[in-house]
Amino acid sequence: MTALQDIEKLVARLSPEPVCDDCIAQTLGLSPLEHTDQSARELAGTNGFERRKDVCSLCGDTRLVTLQR
Ligand SMILES: [Zn+2]
Repeated sequence: MTALQDIEKLVARLSPEPVCDDCIAQTLGLSPLEHTDQSARELAGTNGFERRKDVCSLCGDTRLVTLQR
C-alpha cells in the first residue's frame, strides 16, 4: 500500500468533505518525507478528485484541500 493509495482512500471516505494536506498526513500518520502535498496533487484530476482553496472539514482552516466529487 503506497501513501498515494492511502490518501486516495481517505479522501474518498470523507467525500464530498474537503481535507487539507496536514490533516491527511496526521490522520494517516504519514511522515513529512512522504510528501502528502505532492501525492494529493497527483490525485487531482483523476477519478473526480479536485484540489482547491477551501475550508478543511477536519481542522476548519482555509487552505489547499483535496476532495472527491
Ligand atoms: Zn485540515
